[in-house]
Amino acid sequence: MMVVDKKTAGGNLNILKYIIWVPWILSIILVAIRAGGLHAINFFYQTDGGISVSNTQSYIVYYFFVALIVILSLAAGRRAFCHYLCWMAPFMVIGSKIKTALGLPSLNIHSSKENCNNCKSCERVCPMSLSVSLMVQKGTMSNTECILCGQCIDTCKMEVLRFTFRNRPR
Ligand code: SF4
Ligand code: SF4
Repeated sequence: MMVVDKKTAGGNLNILKYIIWVPWILSIILVAIRAGGLHAINFFYQTDGGISVSNTQSYIVYYFFVALIVILSLAAGRRAFCHYLCWMAPFMVIGSKIKTALGLPSLNIHSSKENCNNCKSCERVCPMSLSVSLMVQKGTMSNTECILCGQCIDTCKMEVLRFTFRNRPR
């Protein structure tokens, strides 16, 4: 079985997902306005039989995106689709920023950099290819690309990292 363990470049290309997201969300809003606004919300729209992939056309769309995710991972590194193209990610980033602005408590990672020996094990396991040890050195674990999977915490033998539930990540 082929194992993709190449790190994604991340960085400036992360903006691609916002370039996709903005016209997408604006077109949905425009269409809704042209249709006279929202009158009802159907939570089960196009999920005949409980699933959204229930006809031939849906399978074509489904496999197109599966292929896109695989090809991007092979070409640009693991989780490349999440970094560069996922149009759901901006919702999570915006939600996170609103949460921080309102000072609401949430799950975060706390670091104690005085215990860090800079072994970079945390970076090697991070599925989002983040510079975790640099984040530790800077004293902030706040990163909109972090999916809070906890792999860095499990890997760190020096117990530098731990989950906390507070209103601001440190
Ligand atoms: S695994 Fe722990 S000790 Fe090693 S660089 Fe990461 S935080 Fe520091
Ligand atoms: S919680 Fe997961 S995504 Fe976030 S820095 Fe740690 S390993 Fe990376």
